[in-house]
Amino acid sequence: APVLELSGVHAGYGGVKAVRGVDLTVGEGEFVVLLGPNGAGKSTTLRVLSGLLKPSAGVVRLSGRDITRVPGHRRPALGLGHVPEGRQIFPDHTVLENLRLGAFGLRRDRTAEKRLLTEMLDLFPRLAERRDQRAGTLSGGEAQMLAVARALMSRPKLLVLDEPTLGLAPLRAAEVFTHIKRLNTDQGLPILLVEQLAMVALKLADRAYVLERGTVALSGPAAEVAADP
Ligand code: ADP
Ligand code: ADP
Repeated sequence: APVLELSGVHAGYGGVKAVRGVDLTVGEGEFVVLLGPNGAGKSTTLRVLSGLLKPSAGVVRLSGRDITRVPGHRRPALGLGHVPEGRQIFPDHTVLENLRLGAFGLRRDRTAEKRLLTEMLDLFPRLAERRDQRAGTLSGGEAQMLAVARALMSRPKLLVLDEPTLGLAPLRAAEVFTHIKRLNTDQGLPILLVEQLAMVALKLADRAYVLERGTVALSGPAAEVAADP
């Protein structure tokens, strides 16, 4: 079974039908990108995934389990690592404290938490150098990597990223993408990436979905979607 499966998902806001019948899967070890113009329904799809928005129809399955109606306080244990748009790190807390917050609500003992922290600092050497600095002093790219590392603290089955390079200089964006790609290839972590930069994202991904006006207008291997006019 796929790690993530959206089947016939409809969702909206009052009278606005933002997403209408979306089917989408992410397989084991797969890197999937979700593209589409502004207003296509990408953020709404992610809100349904993360439980912020209840779908009016359809199901969301994570590792085969229907998570559509899982209440908020049970969500941290599901294994969905979500990096929201805008990073949302805590600027007045240190890098280490921000990482610890990623395990919040998971009832890990201190030994397990320490092991995870060490692992994250190994994975992200630049964060390790700045572990005791306030997160507010990080560069945009470093802050983004902190948001990713924090999401990984929950040992997710799937990493969901919402426009991780928004507002970054091209070189910094490339670094962030390289790091994300490595998490997928080296660790086999399945990834769902929402991105505006279609051409860059299609080079990283295995498969792509293009949303238009709330429905999947195009999907397939990234190379085929990239070749589509
Ligand atoms: P994005 O394309 O990144 O989702 P948007 O401009 O669509 O950015 O949305 C930015 C914020 O404004 C979001 O929090 C979204 O929920 C809200 N928003 C977007 N469209 C509407 C709308 N028509 N009415 C009210 N809020 C909206
Ligand atoms: P995208 O992320 O692809 O830019 P969104 O999912 O943000 O698209 O938006 C899809 C549709 O839903 C748009 O028509 C948008 O205006 C509308 N929308 C998004 N957020 C809200 C909201 N909070 N309230 C009302 N309408 C919204």
